[in-house]
Amino acid sequence: MNILRWSVKALFVLALVGAVAGCGRTVDPHAAWRGVVTQVSTYPSLLEGRYDGQLAVSNLVVFGDHGLGTFDGLDGEMVVRDGVVYRITPDQVASVVSPDTTTPFAQVTWFTPDEVYNVMAMDQNQFLKTMNWKHPDDGRIRAIRITGHFKELHLRSVPRQSKPYLSLDKVVLEHEAQYTLTNVTGTLIGFYAPAAAGTILPRGFHLHFLSTDATTGGHVYDFTLSAARIELSTAPELRVLLPTLPAEK
Ligand SMILES: [Zn+2]
Repeated sequence: MNILRWSVKALFVLALVGAVAGCGRTVDPHAAWRGVVTQVSTYPSLLEGRYDGQLAVSNLVVFGDHGLGTFDGLDGEMVVRDGVVYRITPDQVASVVSPDTTTPFAQVTWFTPDEVYNVMAMDQNQFLKTMNWKHPDDGRIRAIRITGHFKELHLRSVPRQSKPYLSLDKVVLEHEAQYTLTNVTGTLIGFYAPAAAGTILPRGFHLHFLSTDATTGGHVYDFTLSAARIELSTAPELRVLLPTLPAEK
């Protein structure tokens, strides 16, 4: 009888300890991918004209809520903002893509800013100088988000290509659409790649824009901001999903 009573007591104490240990414990479903930039394919592969989709965007957003890229057939510019995947076509129109849309090249990360600055009246050159001064190349990738009001943005998008695919520099030279937006609010989303990464991803800052109302945007060539919040998230790790290529004949 005594043994039974003590066993019940012991079970109660164990249950209590377990409950206390469980209190306040939060499960981060994305813990495995924090601090990691996941990239679909390599930049040289994209430059060569390998535009066949490799991964559905429904799978891409498992690896991050912040990013950029393009779509199967080089069909426009991709922006991933707060986990939603947008396409901006050469007519400057942004729209949400369906989950089964595939990408031949994209970069995403779970964005958790570790540095935040508020800035006023800054053009792209001043931005680059400030970033180089505050964050000299230390070999790590940085995800960047700039939210605010932009006096001017010089952007581009590319039209869907058909096979045989041209190389990316030829598409840009012959088919890209360039345009300028003025006095618009929105978000620049992208990454800074260190020299140590070589050519596997676009070097330096690579930014795409999406307006606050998610109606327009594009790949960024140049910008002048009036007032904005700059957020940086350092990612020490790069994970590359190598593309599946057609067998050589
Ligand atoms: Zn781009």
